[in-house]
Amino acid sequence: MSEKSPVIWWVRRELRLADNPVLQNCIETGRPIIPVFILDDVFETYGACPLWRFGLGAAHFAETLNALGSRLIFRKGRASDVLQALCDETGAELVRWGRAYDPEQVKRDTGVKQDLTAKGIDAKSVAAHLIFEPWDVETKTGTFYKVYSPFWRAIKDRHVADLIQAPSALKTPAKWPASEDIAHWKLADPMKRGAAIVARHICVGEEAARDRLDRFLKDAVNTYKSRRDYPGEPATSKLSENLAWGEISARMLWHLGHRAIDEGKHGAEHFVKEVVWREFAYHLIWHTPHIVDQSWREGWEHFPWNEDDTRIDVVAWKTARTGIPFVDAALREMYVTGHMHNRARMVVASYLTKHMMTHWRIGQAWFEDCLIDWDPAANAMGWQWTAGSGPDAAPYFRIFNPVTQLEKFDRDQVYEHRWIAEGLSNPSDTALSYFKAVPKSWGLTPDADYPDPIVALPDGRQRALDAYQNRSF
Ligand SMILES: Cc1cc2nc3c(=O)[nH]c(=O)nc-3n(C[C@H](O)[C@H](O)[C@H](O)COP(=O)(O)OP(=O)(O)OC[C@H]3O[C@@H](n4cnc5c(N)ncnc54)[C@H](O)[C@@H]3O)c2cc1C
Repeated sequence: MSEKSPVIWWVRRELRLADNPVLQNCIETGRPIIPVFILDDVFETYGACPLWRFGLGAAHFAETLNALGSRLIFRKGRASDVLQALCDETGAELVRWGRAYDPEQVKRDTGVKQDLTAKGIDAKSVAAHLIFEPWDVETKTGTFYKVYSPFWRAIKDRHVADLIQAPSALKTPAKWPASEDIAHWKLADPMKRGAAIVARHICVGEEAARDRLDRFLKDAVNTYKSRRDYPGEPATSKLSENLAWGEISARMLWHLGHRAIDEGKHGAEHFVKEVVWREFAYHLIWHTPHIVDQSWREGWEHFPWNEDDTRIDVVAWKTARTGIPFVDAALREMYVTGHMHNRARMVVASYLTKHMMTHWRIGQAWFEDCLIDWDPAANAMGWQWTAGSGPDAAPYFRIFNPVTQLEKFDRDQVYEHRWIAEGLSNPSDTALSYFKAVPKSWGLTPDADYPDPIVALPDGRQRALDAYQNRSF
């Protein structure tokens, strides 16, 4: 291999310079680095919001690289073909990328590796997305974990490698390959008029992510354990948005979280434990990839859930007009901000899968369309946990009551009034912004009457319990 030929850094969901083992691996080759993003069929099938948010992150990262005298090359096409063409054009003999664990990307990456290796190119993935590789955490009998608590106990005292500093310069090639213009891809188009509104709530890029973490660890972490369930309060980190696109590393959250524990900050250990839920989700998706599209426990595939997403009650759920304030507030929060509070996610998922007896896959797909923090592992695990079909799941008969949940966690109606406009003489701007964000074709106006519940809570609960008791598995 020629020492001068470049290494291609295939950039995917790790849009950062700091603590980036893929970039470090490229730097250690001593070669010029060509960062490349490929809009391939995996990215193109992302939901509207993740695709748009990723595009903003990638454009921002291109500017970050420009500031170092480097570039981010944008290409479109089948990943294997694009990478081979780039190797031919630039003489690159090495390709590196951040390892993925979800079945769709694993399949694509396995094919890319085979194709490039067959051409004599040294093609490798590098661990950068997680703190613990899924196969490095095993039970005493050598199998994977199906329950979170023993998973946590297995890793909580492990040594985690130190953080990697961001480089101050990158070696550049003598000649850059041509790049497409990401703006021409129109990644915001599927968002329609919602993009301008969701844009007010996002926090793009590595610096912003780091500020977010520092602010959280300075103040909010102290009350994290006691207040994290209150959706009206700014009690959580909101870092899922940045973790999803790799604008900050999970390892950084682990290390700075531990520093906060050492400083005696209340809530810091609980925060690290939550970060480890993300690790657990990836542990599950790696060992049981069917979690993304089939009920994890096989029997649940036969449960009589509705799978028709055009049904009137499902449309009411998606358009946040179920008549259940906690459910509607949460779904509106997601539509307007691209984020939904964790307790709210559990409540809307429970209402859909239990009171409405509708398949978790319908909710999972809607979240995939609307979340800026969409994550294939956490989303699949969250839905199956709530539906009762997953490992370590909430028992099916434990059905969240969205009325008592709201009374308990939103006693002063802060969250409800933030998101529900109907019936109020002076609704909040956030509540009104939902009506500006949604497509006009939905025909929603804030001065309409607030709907009656599409499913009365006692009836829905009883129907779900009956179906559960009569199940044949
Ligand atoms: C039905 C359902 C769907 C979900 N879909 C997603 C998704 O697509 N993307 C996503 O990132 N999270 C998802 N979650 C998990 C969780 O709701 C979010 O991670 C959390 O609300 C993010 O807010 P935060 O960053 O303020 O979290 P914090 O409370 O500040 O937690 C810090 C980090 O820990 C991780 N974390 C916390 N709780 C969980 C959890 N229950 N599962 C996995 N990781 C967790 C996240 O990376 C989070 O950023 C889902 C949960 C449910 C019940």
